[in-house]
Amino acid sequence: MKRYASLSLDLDNQWSYMKTHGDAGWQSYPSYLDVAVPSILDFLAKFGLKISFFIIGQDAALAKNRDAISAIAAAGHEIGNHSFRHEPWLHLYSDAELERELGEAEDAIRSVTGVHTRGFRGPGFSVTASTLETLLRRGYEYDATVFPNLLNPLARAYLFSGSKLSPAERRQRSALFGTWKDAMRPVKPFKWRLQGGELLEIPVTTMPWLKLPLHLSYLVYLGKFSRIAARAYFRAALGACKLSGTQPSILLHPLDFIGREDCPELEFFPGMDLTRARKLALVSEFFEMLLAGWEPVTMGEHARRASSCKGGLPQLAPVFNA
Ligand SMILES: [Zn+2]
Repeated sequence: MKRYASLSLDLDNQWSYMKTHGDAGWQSYPSYLDVAVPSILDFLAKFGLKISFFIIGQDAALAKNRDAISAIAAAGHEIGNHSFRHEPWLHLYSDAELERELGEAEDAIRSVTGVHTRGFRGPGFSVTASTLETLLRRGYEYDATVFPNLLNPLARAYLFSGSKLSPAERRQRSALFGTWKDAMRPVKPFKWRLQGGELLEIPVTTMPWLKLPLHLSYLVYLGKFSRIAARAYFRAALGACKLSGTQPSILLHPLDFIGREDCPELEFFPGMDLTRARKLALVSEFFEMLLAGWEPVTMGEHARRASSCKGGLPQLAPVFNA
């Protein structure tokens, strides 16, 4: 079997982290895209890679982010939808609110990039049957929100511990990063069996069987303590993908490509105490390891290959109770 790995980047912005964390000042939408996007695009160009970017509609709607976001499309990367308001409590929206949320994001993203989005990843890995039905109605090819990660509830607790969130705000964020139930979902692509038909899901890959995280920010975080251990961990994870026949879908974030000097306001975030140079050195190593054994593809290409695989994909009913 030919091995491939899809790469996608959630273009979370400074304000979206502040909003989730409950920090004042996010309402003016502070942005690091002018700094982060050139760093990301340079890095990807050096490796000759085209990947998928999930873009937040609110950012595309602001004139100050136009140049950064249009540069992503101009460089030939795939563009997906990462919601308009980036609220990890998307699972609390009504159907009408979901339609509006997705539609507004599509319009704003199209007006900057010229692309009508066909792939979606929910903010904070929030997924429900209503979101999936809405995506299907709006003609999406795939959802990429599921993150079957056993450490997600711990990540949520870590974020809450350093925040000023009220009990009500914590309840609103109770599904942030996913629940224990989400952690039990498959690592490989599958189809949601919905009222309106089927929708392809490409989960964010976690280590097969162990369900431990494999996204770049986590590897960078491990690398901060020991480069050797982080490399060994990634090697083991890729080995498990190989053994289990999993084509990984690897998640990236802007914070993997900028350092503490670029955004001191986000110091609370794991790994944001490293310099940009140190981070890029670590990220380069992980990319070299991945690209040595796997063909890099976009999420759209991953979706096409997964959909046409022999024997079809397993089907899952959308049962959610957080
Ligand atoms: Zn996000």
